[in-house]
Amino acid sequence: MPSFSATEIAFLMVACQQVVLAFGWLAGAALMVESRRAALHWALYAALSAVSLVLFVVSVKPGIEPLRALANLCIVVSLVVLQRGVWAFFACPRPWLWHAAVLAAAGAATWYGLDPANGAWRVAVVSGALSALCLSVGWDMQREARARMELRWGAVLSVPLLLGGLVFGLRAGRAMVSPGTIVAEVTADSALNVSAAFSYLVIALVFQLTLVALVVTRGVVELRRASRYDALTGLLNRRAAQEALEDELQRSRRLGEPFSVLMIDADHFKSINDLHGHAVGDRALQHLGTLLSAQMRDIDRVGRWGGEEFIVLLPGTPLAQAQEVAERLRERTQALPPRWQERAVPLTVSLGVSQWAGPSDELSALMARADAAMYRAKANGRNRVEVEPPPGAPRVSVVR
Ligand code: GH3
Ligand code: MG
Ligand code: MG
Repeated sequence: MPSFSATEIAFLMVACQQVVLAFGWLAGAALMVESRRAALHWALYAALSAVSLVLFVVSVKPGIEPLRALANLCIVVSLVVLQRGVWAFFACPRPWLWHAAVLAAAGAATWYGLDPANGAWRVAVVSGALSALCLSVGWDMQREARARMELRWGAVLSVPLLLGGLVFGLRAGRAMVSPGTIVAEVTADSALNVSAAFSYLVIALVFQLTLVALVVTRGVVELRRASRYDALTGLLNRRAAQEALEDELQRSRRLGEPFSVLMIDADHFKSINDLHGHAVGDRALQHLGTLLSAQMRDIDRVGRWGGEEFIVLLPGTPLAQAQEVAERLRERTQALPPRWQERAVPLTVSLGVSQWAGPSDELSALMARADAAMYRAKANGRNRVEVEPPPGAPRVSVVR
């Protein structure tokens, strides 16, 4: 029955933790389509670090140099795999040059360090490589999380890796300063090494939690996006547009400011589908969505209300001004038709305009007026703008 020192037991505990985490990521890879590639990398990272810890423990006592060299290489490879997983998660380019350089340096140092006389070199170069990898993974994680996921707390993600980078950096420094004692220090059964193993246990766990937090946050961000935006056009979907209208109603009630609504329906859209096919119809809707958004101010909101119907909310805009906006949209739509196989697909829209009529006006009434105006535009020949003033006000029809 082999007996283990406290240091060895501590390292074996970390190895067990890493095995559990590896299985966790494997299960995660089975469940998460979006992050599968990253989860598989992270499973391999955890498995390799477990292997390296076991190799380290096995090689310490009898001083089996090749095994210890293998343990060193394994941990460097594990961090390389970790970083490639982070890149896969954020869909970054995954260049090989940096990793090839790190692996070559670590490989050369472990080979050179097979001679116990050169052990300090191995510790210095391998620890230096691990430090550089930790810092660069930490940097990548916080940068990408902030840029791609708009996470304000992105910097927190790099804390465990910063700590890891610091510890490995110190070890590399010590190897250079006192090469005579470093190998014995690293492998000794000392209180320092036991506490190093436990720190590793905690840092590794916190780090894994940050990876899980990343995956969960991305899931939440995606869900939120899917629940608010239309998949075809990228515009607000009906529910989000309805919410925007309700918010605007509250705001205008508070400030007493006017706002207007445009209801827009593509003309004879069914015949576009019938003539050119559904795919061209979809392209035409995307084109229309882009066109509408491009014409609007930042404060305006554009949504897809239904099939080929769109809605535009114009905050702080009275009816006459909204009518001008509608007319401009009508003209632009006609002037810039979608193109399919080098040919223009004629497309026009009919627009109904209504304005919020003051505190007693309800959203449903406002929408009904915009709808009625739009149907009148259809009835009056399509490709035109009609205005539905508040009850009691005179109706002005726009004649082209
Ligand atoms: P009108 O000028 O009276 O509005 O005529 P219309 O043909 O545009 O109106 P109708 O309501 O008869 O038909 C709307 C068409 O829009 C039918 C439907 O297939 C098409 N449509 C709705 N949503 C989509 C979509 O997401 N993609 C495609 N390709 N077509 C769609
Ligand atoms: Mg239509
Ligand atoms: Mg319609």
